[in-house]
Formats: sequence, structure tokens, C-alpha cells
Amino acid sequence: MEGLRLLRTEHLPHIWCAGCGHGIVLGAVVRAMLRAGVDPDRTVVVSGIGCSSRAVGYLNMDTLHTTHGRALAFATGIKLARPDLRVVVLAGDGDLAAIGGNHLIHAARRNMGITCVCFNNGIYGMTSGQYSPLTPAGFRTATAPHGHLERDFDLCRLVQAAGATYVARSTTYHVHQTIEYVTRALGHDGFSFVEVLSQCPTYFGRRNRMADPVRMLEWFRERAVTVTQAGRMKPEELAGRVLIGELHRTEDVPEYTRSYRELIARLSGEGDRHER
Ligand code: SF4
Repeated sequence: MEGLRLLRTEHLPHIWCAGCGHGIVLGAVVRAMLRAGVDPDRTVVVSGIGCSSRAVGYLNMDTLHTTHGRALAFATGIKLARPDLRVVVLAGDGDLAAIGGNHLIHAARRNMGITCVCFNNGIYGMTSGQYSPLTPAGFRTATAPHGHLERDFDLCRLVQAAGATYVARSTTYHVHQTIEYVTRALGHDGFSFVEVLSQCPTYFGRRNRMADPVRMLEWFRERAVTVTQAGRMKPEELAGRVLIGELHRTEDVPEYTRSYRELIARLSGEGDRHER
């Protein structure tokens, strides 16, 4: 009940389909915010466009519902202008990995203190189920009715390779782990990224014999392997499985806005000396 103070309850019930996973992810984010001691008066949450991006409308703090793919660009501007604020991005896989893919890799590379939670339903739900860069190969979508031919991105590996300093993955079946990873991400000093597999029974599930959201949760449970389990498995056993857990964490890279402020302070000092 304590989490209700972080929600705009006047906007409930939410608009998501029955059985959609996005409410579970939002619930995990709210619980993580409580655990991390997030001050809603000093927090900005940014989203782009898509079913998951509606999440910010339910949060009782400063929120921006921006343009498709540009949530991280807006978040970068906010964090640069007000590094004292906590900046969180909630966005979908299509938003972050397709039109916003460039913003994602460069946000990771800069290591700016932004927490990004990816609601990965493997599809464009809001526009009725086109495939996204995270649709697994072989699965059916509105634009791949005979099965998707492309390989999907491993988004966690991508952001880690680009320079993110905290990376984790979970699913809506693994709620406690999701809360824990988002809590740690919120406490991290640098760019933190948590991917959460979230079910879309309406467009992904129906086309792939998983119209029942419970079946989709079972599918997540069956596909997921922890880092420890994966270490004991052969490569052929890992085919089609999804690695969950805390995948990467380092404190060795400076947070960008602090380096930026230090540079300004140093140059201002030099300017004073020249004036004398
Ligand atoms: S279309 Fe899919 S992702 Fe969008 S609200 Fe419905 S179930 Fe959720």
C-alpha cells in the first residue's frame, strides 16, 4: 500500500490489456523505488511511445511522455541540465532497440547516471504486433506471419559492449529478481540498464499459441537460465534460452555529468587565473 503514494491512482484502472505484463513491470519499478528510497520530488521519469511508455502516466512524480525512440535523448538533456535529479527511462524494446537504438548505445557509452528499464515484449504491441529487433527468430508476428527470419538482438550484451556499467535481465515471471535488479540499478552511479521480458498475450501470444498469459509466464520460466546454471550448460543446451541475472557491474568508469561538472569547474578556475 505504501507504493500508492508513488502512483497517480486517479488514472487507474490502467489501459493495458488483461494479462499484459507491463503492469507487473511497473509494479516492480514502484517497489524498487520504495526500496531504493527514491524521492519522487527529485525524480524525473521519461518514456517514448508504445504500450509500455504509458507507464509514466501512472507515476506520481515529474514525467515526460516523449516521441518515439527519443526517451533517452530527452533524459540525457535533463540529466545534463540537472545532474542533481534522478532520471529514469521506461521504454519498450521497439522504442529502445530500433528507432532509439543509436541513443541507447551512446547513452551506454557516455555512462551518464540514468536508469533505463526496457519492457521487452518482443513486438510492437500498440500498433498491433509488428516484429521488433527483439522478436525471437521463428516466432510469428503481424509482419512475419510465417515466422520471423531475422535473429534478435541480445540487448544486454549490446549495451554492455557499448559501455553500460550496470546490466541485468529478468522476466515478469521472476518478479522478486526484477525488483532486486531495478533497486540495484537505481543505486548505481552510472548508466544502468535492466531488461525485463514482459508478456503481450494479445499480439505476440495469440499468434504463437500462447494466448493465455499464464502460458506466456510459463514460457519465460522454461526459457530462463541463471548465470550460474548457464555456466554448467553446453552451448547447444543454451540455444533458445534467455540468460537472466545481474550480467555486468563495474564502478570503475566515471559518471559523465560529474566529469562534465569537474571540467567546467577546472576551466572556470583557469579563466579566473587568466583574468588576474
Ligand atoms: S497490446 Fe500487448 S503490450 Fe500492448 S497492452 Fe495489450 S497485451 Fe500489453
